[in-house]
Amino acid sequence: QRGAHPPRSVNVQVAVRCRPLNDREKSQGERSILQCDPIRKEVILSASGLQRKTSALPGISSGKKTFTYDHVFGMDATQADVFERVVEPIVDEVLEGYNCTVFAYGQTGTGKTHTMEGRRDADMVAIAQRRLAENAGIIPRSVKQIFDHLRSLTDEHSVRVSHLELYNEQLSDLLGPDHDPGDLLRVYEDPQKGTFVQGLEDVVVRSEDEIFAVLDRSAAKRKTAETLMNKYSSRSHSIFSITIHIKQSTPEGADLLKVGKLNLVDLAGSENVGRSGAVRGRAREAGNINQSLLTLGRVITALVDRHPHVPYRDSKLTRLLQESLGGRNKTCVIATVTPGSSSVEETASTLDYAYRAKSI
Ligand code: ADP
Ligand code: MG
Repeated sequence: QRGAHPPRSVNVQVAVRCRPLNDREKSQGERSILQCDPIRKEVILSASGLQRKTSALPGISSGKKTFTYDHVFGMDATQADVFERVVEPIVDEVLEGYNCTVFAYGQTGTGKTHTMEGRRDADMVAIAQRRLAENAGIIPRSVKQIFDHLRSLTDEHSVRVSHLELYNEQLSDLLGPDHDPGDLLRVYEDPQKGTFVQGLEDVVVRSEDEIFAVLDRSAAKRKTAETLMNKYSSRSHSIFSITIHIKQSTPEGADLLKVGKLNLVDLAGSENVGRSGAVRGRAREAGNINQSLLTLGRVITALVDRHPHVPYRDSKLTRLLQESLGGRNKTCVIATVTPGSSSVEETASTLDYAYRAKSI
């Protein structure tokens, strides 16, 4: 029972990224309630003078609150800044044979998908020329780093990718054969293999271009799901995983197999978790997304506090990622926020969730 043993070291890093005010927010006369200090790694939320009162965090309505994180990115931070500071060292670990996970967490519209994927159309052209578009997010940048490294090796290696989505606690394989999105995939625990998803496509890819062809396939499937299911994109979790096998020879001539896995997770919008944990009305649908997001928070808190029981089994998301969270594996949460004053409650809630995930 993995959950029964507290990990000896915890590797949870928390970053906050604030996007610029968008046109809608500007046209509605919203002002910025956030100040980001990347050097001091602080985010200052000032709610004083707001019309809306904030029940989100006690104490905030009286003025300012300062949060400290491992990394803070202000609205002028580039995709390259975020990648180089936060993700590049994680990909290095994966190439050394560890399992690592990067989560994007935040309210819908604050930049989770922008941070994870960036603009895909531009990527395709750029990737063909072996360079990255300025707007390329974590997925294309990680893919490039991985293949650049592998090209420098003489060792035998392979790269496989899978792409899952979790909507309403149901798994669907975005790379699977063309059955209905939402077809049930099941998660199993196997003493040898660990947690695995039965029948999940794990596609072998030989180059950046092949990975992007695969991502195009999953994007098409996701479009279908969007049209069939209510608020699919804000309620679903997307899990893109890259597994790397590298076979090396020791000086003694023995084979050494390194297996590393990188999970890049674009989480459901945090507005789907009420602060109390209860989402009024929208019963099952929202309630279930709630379950995975809430459990993820509890799992991370248990890891950070070195609690003897880590509740991996309480949601599909955490069961799926169980082998990649805790122990020697590095985990990073990138919380995305808007500075817009109308989102003060949601922003306070995100900053608080992210703060609680931070290792002390
Ligand atoms: P989410 O996935 O969290 O719902 P998106 O990534 O789709 O949010 O972002 C919503 C919009 O805001 C998109 O048009 C995106 O391009 C823009 N955006 C998000 N983050 C930034 C940023 N840091 N700088 C500029 N534009 C951004
Ligand atoms: Mg999104």
